[in-house]
Amino acid sequence: NLVSDIMAPFGVVLETCPAANILTADLAGYAAVVVETPSNPGLDVIDLRALVERCRTAGAKLVVDNTVLTPLLQQPLDLGADIVIVSDTKAMAGHTDVLMGHVASRDAAYMERLLSVRNLTGNIPAPYEAWLLLRGLETVELRLERMCANARAALPLLQASEAVSEVIYPDPSPQALDQGFLIGATFASAAAADRFLERAGFAKMTSFGGLHSSGDRRARWGDTVPEGFLRLSFGVEPTAALIDAVQAALADG
Ligand SMILES: *Cc1c(COP(=O)(O)O)cnc(C)c1O
Repeated sequence: NLVSDIMAPFGVVLETCPAANILTADLAGYAAVVVETPSNPGLDVIDLRALVERCRTAGAKLVVDNTVLTPLLQQPLDLGADIVIVSDTKAMAGHTDVLMGHVASRDAAYMERLLSVRNLTGNIPAPYEAWLLLRGLETVELRLERMCANARAALPLLQASEAVSEVIYPDPSPQALDQGFLIGATFASAAAADRFLERAGFAKMTSFGGLHSSGDRRARWGDTVPEGFLRLSFGVEPTAALIDAVQAALADG
């Protein structure tokens, strides 16, 4: 939206392609390639080392959106990416109460320009929001550990359930340290998906990465996924209680 709605009048041209196709796309002539891995909502994994090579050959900067795994679980700069962007609104802040984000790069000239634009546009976080993020960051490692463990514990239940036709839990190893806390699960219909969220006690919301397990039925936003596809985000609830709730919700199916 930023490029197509705001930057287009300045001559910036945007082209998109499915995450799964980026490694075979012809990158000649592109100034920058922006990818998300695992991608949202399909959870496709892109081989970043391979993409770094292709971007270097084409002379394009590689920008990686690292929101889904966070810098604790995946470090794209170490794999050769030029710029990393992260929505700290999600797992980094982790309490579903602040909008924030960060940009990281080892290109000093680029960072200097970015900071200058940030200052000139007044795009500076207010003190209270900055404090909310700082408070969240102090527990991000602990939260991620539980969130990933909860996702892993729920996975076999979803895979074994007749109410779920497809389960996606991306495996971004060896470029990441964990598979993360997001699972894609396809139910028979929108109603079945909504019923699962209600019965399991998962919040219905588009954001993810918070303390509480939640889910978003992506078709309601026009994503090209089945009506019953849920992107589930696992929270920090006690694992046994969470598993009981998921099991009961699936049994009611
Ligand atoms: C949510 C999200 C964003 C946008 O972040 P906001 O902090 O909500 O503006 C960007 N990229 C990904 C992968 C996201 O999930």
